[in-house]
Amino acid sequence: MPISESMVQDIVQEVMAKMQIADAPAGKHGIFTDMNEAIEAAKASQKIVRKMSLDQREKIITCIRRKTKENAEILARMGVDETGMGNVGDKILKHHLVADKTPGTEDLSTTAWSGDRGLTLIEMGPFGVIGAITPCTNPSETILCNTMGMLAGGNTVVFNPHPAAIKTSIYAINLLNEASLEAGGPDNIAVTVEKPTLETSNIMMKHKDIPLIAATGGPGVVTAVLSSGKRGIGAGAGNPPAVVDETADVRKAAQDIVNGCTFDNNLPCIAEKEIVAVASITDELMHYLVSENDCYLASKEEQDKLTAVVLAGGKLNRKCVGRDARTLLSMIGVNAPANIRCIVFEGPKEHPLIATELMMPILGVVRAKDFDDAVEQAVWLEHGNRHSAHIHSKNIDNITKYAKAIDTAILVKNAPSYAALGFGGEGYCTFTIASRTGEGLTSASTFTKRRRCVMADSLCIR
Ligand code: NAD
Repeated sequence: MPISESMVQDIVQEVMAKMQIADAPAGKHGIFTDMNEAIEAAKASQKIVRKMSLDQREKIITCIRRKTKENAEILARMGVDETGMGNVGDKILKHHLVADKTPGTEDLSTTAWSGDRGLTLIEMGPFGVIGAITPCTNPSETILCNTMGMLAGGNTVVFNPHPAAIKTSIYAINLLNEASLEAGGPDNIAVTVEKPTLETSNIMMKHKDIPLIAATGGPGVVTAVLSSGKRGIGAGAGNPPAVVDETADVRKAAQDIVNGCTFDNNLPCIAEKEIVAVASITDELMHYLVSENDCYLASKEEQDKLTAVVLAGGKLNRKCVGRDARTLLSMIGVNAPANIRCIVFEGPKEHPLIATELMMPILGVVRAKDFDDAVEQAVWLEHGNRHSAHIHSKNIDNITKYAKAIDTAILVKNAPSYAALGFGGEGYCTFTIASRTGEGLTSASTFTKRRRCVMADSLCIR
């Protein structure tokens, strides 16, 4: 058989990828000093992945699941130590959730039309090398989950992680490549640079070999990605309100909301950030929050002190993000009892601790005169992010009205917010919820291109 130029190129790429396996220092698979080199390596690796069977990709994913579980505690501790945010127990759970419930290749479904004129299929194929920007709030969770989905779709990935979580991110990226090598795959299925900056991010976003960028983070990064001229998946900020109406099981609502709000110290973007309660049950709800759910009721003076610390100079104080309630209270001189999990108070929707996405266990409660007023205030508080919202109600008409009005990617009914991630709820897990661009909860199929595959006049055997 004659050897074509493209075959020679493929062989060279394969040899280059294998050389990188040999050269990579232990514990540093996929880690480069230069962004362009990182992209080249991911490109070489993608050429190999592209030729792998679905079964081979699935073997790597199975190995990633196992290693994620084995390393869940290390990654959880590393994340908390490095960023100062969240808590180890919940972060362990989050890694188990990623390992167990992130979809693999089974997510790639085929659509078919068969008839007199033949057979047409829609197949889901890879983009190639995907650029991904990840947050410091769920650093390794996002990297592991993104890579599993992207690899299932036949892609490799270049990360520009949050600099404040680079150690944890590097550990996760190394783990992904070790899993691939162990399962007979190539090195560099996921890569990054040792020192990610806005400059390395720009190199990645502008690179000719990156056709798709997935951004998980606040409004700044999503806007940057959507202005890049490339296709972008924008998983942006939220400020999820939890509405409680007069038909709710108020006692259970209080428990569910506090459980969701305090999970990993309120870091998940989907977590309850404030409550809007109809007036007829607000006092009852406050009673259950404080008497049965370890909430600290902050006085007006304490709210003012908290505002001064948490939103110092009108800007979110990073030193408060992802801290537990007792630490936050200690910052304003309050020595709270050991059981305290959450800080609550009643206030208007415009209260800065209510209107701002804080990512810490502070729950302002807004009183609404009736259900319509509750919906109006909740929609205002969500700020048009269309990200996540929650409701506690037994009235289907109320739930439907709220769902239509708030129009979010996630709406959890009568459960803690984390049910949306498949934790205590049905469905798969992701840590990239594409609220801005509408893909919703991302999975392998989100990271693929739809290709129409047509066979005219044949293969219909009906
Ligand atoms: P962040 O916006 O500060 O950083 C996120 C990432 O974007 C980091 O890697 C950062 O370096 C990068 N970045 C920031 N501005 C950039 C720019 N202009 N150009 C290029 N890169 C830029 O967010 P964070 O503090 O790490 O995470 C918390 C935020 O992310 C919250 O707003 C939260 O709601 C959101 N978030 C959303 C999702 C989701 O799935 N929708 C998931 C997690 C976090």
